[in-house]
Parts: sequence; structure tokens; C-alpha cells
Amino acid sequence: MRYALFGDIHGNLEALQAVVDDFLHKGVDEVICLGDIVGYGANPEECVQIVRKLGCLTVVGNHDHAAIGHLDVSCFNPYARTAAFWTGKHLSHESKEWLCSLSFIEYCDAFTLVHGSLPSPELFNYIQTIRHAEFTFRLMDKHLCFCGHSHVPLAFFNTDPIYYTIDEIIDIDPAVKTIVNIGSVGQPRDERPQAAYAIYDTTKAEVRICRVDYDIAAAAKKITEAGLPQPLASRLWLGK
Ligand code: ZN
Repeated sequence: MRYALFGDIHGNLEALQAVVDDFLHKGVDEVICLGDIVGYGANPEECVQIVRKLGCLTVVGNHDHAAIGHLDVSCFNPYARTAAFWTGKHLSHESKEWLCSLSFIEYCDAFTLVHGSLPSPELFNYIQTIRHAEFTFRLMDKHLCFCGHSHVPLAFFNTDPIYYTIDEIIDIDPAVKTIVNIGSVGQPRDERPQAAYAIYDTTKAEVRICRVDYDIAAAAKKITEAGLPQPLASRLWLGK
């Protein structure tokens, strides 16, 4: 079985189309979305429609919640806050209702899906350190958990001591609880501007982080033309 897992699209239509083309070309059996379909980029409605058309299992992200008014954005930085209000005005009623219907946690076969982390998933905490990973390991009843949110591909293994890797090929051992952050389609922050997503191949027992070039100039130009904060356009070139 081969799963394509993608998330943190953030309204970046060019990046999403490039990723979808890439995994359809490579061939996968199932597709999964880890949330933050909207927020920051200039095509939130189009991105929601593509994800819905894929008919994939999807968990909600904090920016999805912010755009539909379900999250207090006072904790967002000013650019994210501006983008959340803009996004809310550029989503159809139907798309908002669909975002509203998404769950914080989903289960698929032998793994768990969450946008941020498992303890109080509605708080959207990050898993960026071994300590953070430990809190999620404690709540995992399956050996594998996929997440997004930090926009940095990374995997943690519940060995003694807990080990982590930024390698692009992650071996999955059912005897070792593993958390995989699949990176971001539309706003990577690991200083590599290419869109990121993951393919989990259960036969090979490995997750591979895939990187895809896309038309950054077009996505950045649309952000500028929409009147969204300029740093949201320029950061796409930097991958941070
Ligand atoms: Zn995000």
C-alpha cells in the first residue's frame, strides 16, 4: 500500500497542483491531508476545492480554524492575522462548512493523523523537540503518527533515548513508535523552497519525503496582487 500524505498547503495553488501531479504520476493507493489547506496564500478557495475533489481523509489545521472564525487569532503574528481575515472573506460558504466538519484527529489503518500534536489537539501545539515528541508518544495507541504544523520535515523515534532524524527516507518499524512530520506543500520552512509531502510505502516499510519544484514566482505574484503582506510572498523564495 502506498499513501501520499500532504498538508500545510496554505492557499498556494501552484504548489498544490505540482504536488498532486507528482504523486499521481508516481502512483499511490490512498491520499491523506494533514490540514492548513488555507491561510497565507492567495488561492484558499481553489485549494479547498482540489482537496475535496481528492476525497481524502483530512484533519483540520489551525489556519483552517482561524479562517472560519473558530480560533482566536490574537496569538497569530500580524501577517498571519491579516491573512486569516483575508482568507475568511475569500472562502465560499460551502468550503467553510466543509472545513468546519473536519476533525482534529483521524485514524487510518495502522496510523494516526493530527495537524499539531496529540495532547489537546485543539490547541495546535508543535512537535519540535524530544520533550514535545514524548507527550505525543504517551498518547499513541498505534506505532505511527503523522503530523504537520511546523512546516519542517522531521521524524522522532521512541527509542531510549528518543532519537530524531531529518533524513528524507524514514524507516518504519512497528516495534518503535514513530512520529513523522511531512513538511509543507505551500510554505516550507526548512530553507528549501520546494514543496514537500510524503509517500508512505507499507511494503518497503518506509516514508519518503518528496520535494517538488513549482512556480514560486506565480504564487508570490498573486499574494502581492491580492494585497496580502509582502513578507508572505518573499518568504516562499527562501523556504522559511
Ligand atoms: Zn501551517
